[in-house]
Amino acid sequence: MSEIDRLREMIDGARRIVAFTGAGISTESGIPDFRSPGGIWTKYQPIYFDDFMSSEEMRREAWRRKFATDETMARAEPNAGHRALAKLVEQGRMSAIITQNVDGLHQRSGVPDSKVIELHGNSTYATCLDCTQRYELESIKQAFVGEGRLPICEKCDGIVKTATISFGQAMPEIAMARAQDETMACDLFIVLGSSLVVYPAAGFPRVAKRKGAKLVIVNRDPTDQDDDADLVLHAEIGPIMSRVVGVN
Ligand SMILES: [Zn+2]
Repeated sequence: MSEIDRLREMIDGARRIVAFTGAGISTESGIPDFRSPGGIWTKYQPIYFDDFMSSEEMRREAWRRKFATDETMARAEPNAGHRALAKLVEQGRMSAIITQNVDGLHQRSGVPDSKVIELHGNSTYATCLDCTQRYELESIKQAFVGEGRLPICEKCDGIVKTATISFGQAMPEIAMARAQDETMACDLFIVLGSSLVVYPAAGFPRVAKRKGAKLVIVNRDPTDQDDDADLVLHAEIGPIMSRVVGVN
């Protein structure tokens, strides 16, 4: 039996599936893997959360970088991998998509917000760090690029930041708790496009295994947890998942 047939059989036989996605699912949409060699985080020093909070110059630098790289993100469209997962969610077979990505492409592929658990936040909008009021990037960009104004919350004067989790920023508690619950409740856990090196996120596959779920890893390159998996496919995600689930 081919690996694709085995994956299809595991998906068909599962009662409750959870997906765990990383940069690899979105590189096929043209979004670079920021952590890979040559990726943007190897060119720039990362801006740590405390520095962002304490230094206006760091906030300016963060917004400059954001708008310098924003075009790629804005142009990206969901690919066959995203669409395959969206179909499994729609069929009621996949209870949640836990993602390390900040690009919002799972939601854009039709998955309701309530089914996407974003461990590293979302870079397609901003929020006030004090009162969580949401702000769209376009108005921030106009004020920043046009007039050099940093965004300040209209409601509480708080600092506004993209809704991502920065280096040195606490993991989002509610998202982490939901991810833990979903991981413990599933009987099939599928990792797609994550090299499983960034903790604590990379701990979820082990939790799933400990609770008796089957573990599948679909990733272009080998991962540290391949030995723990019931099935490993070293391949591009879109072509595999579209065949397994039957989407274009
Ligand atoms: Zn506010």
